[in-house]
Amino acid sequence: MLAPNSVCTVFFLILQYKSIVMERIAIFPGSFDPFTLGHESIIRRALPMFDQIIIMIGYNSNKEPFYPLAKRKEWILRVFENEPRIRVGKYDGLTVDYCKRVHAQYILRGLRTSADFEYERAIAQINKKMYPEVETVFLLTTPETTAISSTIVRDILRHKGDASLFLPSCLDLSEFYE
Ligand code: ADP
Repeated sequence: MLAPNSVCTVFFLILQYKSIVMERIAIFPGSFDPFTLGHESIIRRALPMFDQIIIMIGYNSNKEPFYPLAKRKEWILRVFENEPRIRVGKYDGLTVDYCKRVHAQYILRGLRTSADFEYERAIAQINKKMYPEVETVFLLTTPETTAISSTIVRDILRHKGDASLFLPSCLDLSEFYE
């Protein structure tokens, strides 16, 4: 007969095993500088496919981003404040190492153009070679968001233009300049 303590431990281990092994966890890596309507669209469409999506803000400690990491994270958290299955992390190492760390079996990426495809194909194949357990899942963009990129949004904002058409509705990045 197992002592109550042992029963609790076994139960806890089963729960942990279930959350690590059974849950479909995807990471969505990017620089999100800033997070756009295109990013939001990919994540919302991918949500039914996974139990959890971790938006991984990749950063390079030697490269100055346009928006500070903390702001980018804050904005993404605001967009998904009512979505408990979305988490936000940051990482400056290899994507596959981050996958191992958070037990993610999938890398989610968006495809806009054939140029995106060529670039993404090489990265996905290299990632698969380095970490065979991981699969990269691509979603094609919707026609309305294909032209949106963080680069274009940054250019508009840099020149004090109105980028609201290309940003999630709850974000007003002009607050950053006030
Ligand atoms: P990266 O520098 O890694 O491409 P981004 O933040 O630009 O980082 O993009 C992160 C992911 O979001 C990539 O998979 C990219 O293809 C996708 N993405 C970017 N813009 C759009 C868009 N307008 N529609 C759909 N996916 C997009």
